[in-house]
Amino acid sequence: MSDLYELRCRECGKSWGNEPRSFCEDCFSPLEVVYDYDSLKKSARRENLSGRDFNMWRYSELLPLPRDYKGPNAVGGTPLVASRKLGREWGIKNLHFKNDAVCFPSLSFKDRVVATALAAARRFGFETVGCSSTGNLANAVAAQAAQQGFDACVFIPADLEPAKVLNTAVYGARIVRIDGNYDHVNRLCAQIADRFNWGLVNVNLRPYYSEGSKTHGYEIAEQLGWRLPDNVVVPMAGGSLITKIAKAFRELITLGWVEPRPVRFFGAQATGCSPISDGVKRNLSRFEPQKPKTIARSLAIGNPADGGYAIKLMRESGGWAEDVSDPEIVAAIKVLAETEGIFAETAGGVTTGVAKKLIDQSRISPEETTVVCITGNGLKTTDAIVGEYTLSEAIPPKIEAFEALMDAQFATSGRALAAHKA
Ligand SMILES: *Cc1c(COP(=O)(O)O)cnc(C)c1O
Ligand SMILES: [Zn+2]
Repeated sequence: MSDLYELRCRECGKSWGNEPRSFCEDCFSPLEVVYDYDSLKKSARRENLSGRDFNMWRYSELLPLPRDYKGPNAVGGTPLVASRKLGREWGIKNLHFKNDAVCFPSLSFKDRVVATALAAARRFGFETVGCSSTGNLANAVAAQAAQQGFDACVFIPADLEPAKVLNTAVYGARIVRIDGNYDHVNRLCAQIADRFNWGLVNVNLRPYYSEGSKTHGYEIAEQLGWRLPDNVVVPMAGGSLITKIAKAFRELITLGWVEPRPVRFFGAQATGCSPISDGVKRNLSRFEPQKPKTIARSLAIGNPADGGYAIKLMRESGGWAEDVSDPEIVAAIKVLAETEGIFAETAGGVTTGVAKKLIDQSRISPEETTVVCITGNGLKTTDAIVGEYTLSEAIPPKIEAFEALMDAQFATSGRALAAHKA
């Protein structure tokens, strides 16, 4: 390899060099970026990181980037929040939230995957980039294409959340709305990638795209003091993120950056679109595709590309998968906000709700270190919870009016009572 990485078929092992391609033409299996770890052991040292900014580019040696690539924008570097309240309420000790709700530039973990995909798009000479998206990916492509001077054309199901559509439109990207669900959109994009000379980040650039997810895992390990957690709870759409966090941890062990430690991987889905968790729970060798119906739109992929690999990972790591209903998702969004001050989108409600379920099932034990991955921002899915809150009547700007209001609420609300007495 002239680069220290190349594409290889996950099943037959055939090498494909570096090119915009996601499937092996011999056996039609997905391609994966593999690295020359023997060389990396010499060149990629943990000490190199000191003095670098805390964002995903600090791990550049471990990403499939063109030589001397300078990250054009700060992406990632999000907080690992040690739980103050929720862990205690749930009866577990070392609970953390990896908070990609505040990932730059577009407020979801999809910024990480787009960052590595656009590096590949630049290398392969694409001028137009795009994606098939359940919302967040389109936001990230549109934002970073604007920053880097690519034309952007994104494909989305017609009925996405308005905030997510707006979050794409504002960057000037062309938006093609498809009358169908994500799986229809994705199939169309495969044909478009064949016919147009475009870099579709999760289609023909998919192997480079998915490597960006590893940085979510590197950051978790570094923020735990270069230690791996015992458990991670990860939301699953296509099932890529969970497998890439596992790859990140394996690489850190291979390079000697962390001590080996078995990590259990737990996947989270919405019951209304749960082909992967269903496959784990029923011990299927292959998941059964589903027709999505859930408020967790960002996870609504009925035929997940990496579903089989995700199932295998959870099984072999001693983990498990669970899913939660739409009302449970809404409840979990509220609990996370009220206890930890993190406003997550529906996918965050899925992960939080599932984490609680796994603790109740004693699959996650109280003494262990557990990281729950929050992957997107609540301001993008306000329609999911807006019905939970009613505005009080406006009052005149008079102290008497406020006192009357407090008295009126005195009878009904313990919280108002506390405020009243203080
Ligand atoms: C895309 C996405 C995921 C999961 O993605 P995978 O396809 O499983 O890698 C999780 N959370 C949010 C908010 C997403 O947008
Ligand atoms: Zn092959």
